Amino acid sequence: MEEIILPREFMRRILSHGRSAYPDEACGILAGEENVVKVMYEATNLESSPVSYMLDPGEQFRIMKEIRDRGMRMVAIYHSHPLAPPYPSQKDINLVFYHDAAYIIAGLLDRADPQVKAFEIIDGQVREIGIKELD
Ligand SMILES: [Zn+2]
Repeated sequence: MEEIILPREFMRRILSHGRSAYPDEACGILAGEENVVKVMYEATNLESSPVSYMLDPGEQFRIMKEIRDRGMRMVAIYHSHPLAPPYPSQKDINLVFYHDAAYIIAGLLDRADPQVKAFEIIDGQVREIGIKELD
């Protein structure tokens, strides 16, 4: 995946989810077709932590089923970094399970100027990919 196509509405919602979970990390799933995001699911961070997240497995299972039922695929998993730059932590890298999904991180360290970045993480290798916002 070279870039993700993300409607601005979802960009706003990722940031507002991150702000509402602050100082804990927020997480969720973005689904759609190919690299185009069409649906966003806010999820529960089981760890309630400012430095890590864990999707609730039962909730994730229900979301994944709904995505399949809609004929879509999981395009990305997003989470926020309330206290760190928007770059995958070693734990984020270790926990990567889906190689065909992108990982989006919303960096809220500078809350007045949040930064959202997307990455492909394969076999421990992190590569930034583009985010193209759609109106
Ligand atoms: Zn992280």
